[in-house]
Amino acid sequence: MTVEKYDSIIIGAGAAGLMCAYTASVRGKKILLIDHSNKLAEKIRISGGGRCNFTNIFSEPKSYISANPNFCISALTNYTPHHFTGLLDKHHITYHEKTLGQLFCDNSAEDIIKLLDHLCNINNVIRKMPVKVLNINKMPRGFELTTNNIGIVQAETLVIATGGLSIPQIGATGFGYNIARDFGLNIIKTEPALVPLALDPIQLEYFSPLSGSSFYSQTKIDKMSFLENTLITHRGLSGPAILQISSYYNPGANLQIDMLPAMNITQQVNENRKSNKLLSNFLALFFSERIANSLCKILKLDKQLSQLSNKEILHINELIHNFIVTPSGTLGYKKAEVTRGGVDTHELSSKTLESRKIDGLFFIGEVVDVTGWLGGYNFQWAWASAHAAGNNL
Ligand SMILES: Cc1cc2nc3c(=O)[nH]c(=O)nc-3n(C[C@H](O)[C@H](O)[C@H](O)COP(=O)(O)OP(=O)(O)OC[C@H]3O[C@@H](n4cnc5c(N)ncnc54)[C@H](O)[C@@H]3O)c2cc1C
Repeated sequence: MTVEKYDSIIIGAGAAGLMCAYTASVRGKKILLIDHSNKLAEKIRISGGGRCNFTNIFSEPKSYISANPNFCISALTNYTPHHFTGLLDKHHITYHEKTLGQLFCDNSAEDIIKLLDHLCNINNVIRKMPVKVLNINKMPRGFELTTNNIGIVQAETLVIATGGLSIPQIGATGFGYNIARDFGLNIIKTEPALVPLALDPIQLEYFSPLSGSSFYSQTKIDKMSFLENTLITHRGLSGPAILQISSYYNPGANLQIDMLPAMNITQQVNENRKSNKLLSNFLALFFSERIANSLCKILKLDKQLSQLSNKEILHINELIHNFIVTPSGTLGYKKAEVTRGGVDTHELSSKTLESRKIDGLFFIGEVVDVTGWLGGYNFQWAWASAHAAGNNL
């Protein structure tokens, strides 16, 4: 049997795998890019509501969660959002900022997939998919992979770009973590992140009638907080403020919600202390009618403002500015945008993403223990880590 030889094999043709293949192929490397799926870069395709929030102009290390918070600095500094937008500009792909530095394609996420695919093609990247890797064998110099349908392939370097566990429905697997373990690398415990939070049946009794309602909020766990919208769903809480804080959630943690972060409700009530308005009508000035009525139900209170006691105002203030929820968990990997945790960064070089233990073995993208906030940060990590590795294969 003939054995095909490459400079490098990249497993996983998602955001990081494509960028890495392109970067290395421009340097003249002979690259084989394989994926077990028959669809290219499905996560890019479905991201950002089909328009791919491909970066965030405010990307900086503090927007990433990792057991080793400084690890991402090198890659992010050497490949910035500006580099990626420069690539899009050069190929006439137009985009816009939606909010908070989040850049989206004007047209479609397909534009980015097509561009990366095209850049790989013109630089002679050999892409084969669907291909299943059955075995990886470390040779004295390089790696030998046994596959289900392209035989045995060899390369001096091997890049694992197989992403995290979120959305198994479209091909996410724990493959990258298993390979890392097989080679003796440590894994930081994985958890669903950027994920809706579930509520128990008792809490849902209050919340589910409000399903579909949203409000501007500050969500807080310990010292971390986010100012964005919270959305109430039939299973619990979602919306950007919840997805963001979910990446800091651990089972049993309390979630603190300020439902009116831009205002002081005590001051508002006090300024209207002589009013005959019912509390529910007053609260409806700040919230939807449904939410205002529900708040009164939780408070077991609906009287005229003029009749409120100081103690009752204190309760109103506490409920609105310091609403404590104890989620029963998350909605899991099926609904999570990303996976927190992954290949321990202490095992990798921050400059090249190469394993410190195993020569020639690289891990890039979401499989690594670097998880970005919501808003384009995760793709920026995929591009940046892939670029760092691609330049060092
Ligand atoms: C619904 C959704 C929306 C998102 N929106 C955004 C957004 O707008 N902005 C943002 O920054 N991030 C977003 N993300 C996160 C972002 O998609 C990921 O962080 C990013 O795709 C990670 O890139 P990656 O290349 O590391 O992994 P992936 O893009 O997941 O690619 C991994 C590839 O490996 C392949 N693979 C897996 N297992 C195997 C195996 N055993 N053998 C061979 N191949 C394998 C997969 O088929 C896949 O093609 C979103 C995620 C989801 C789920």
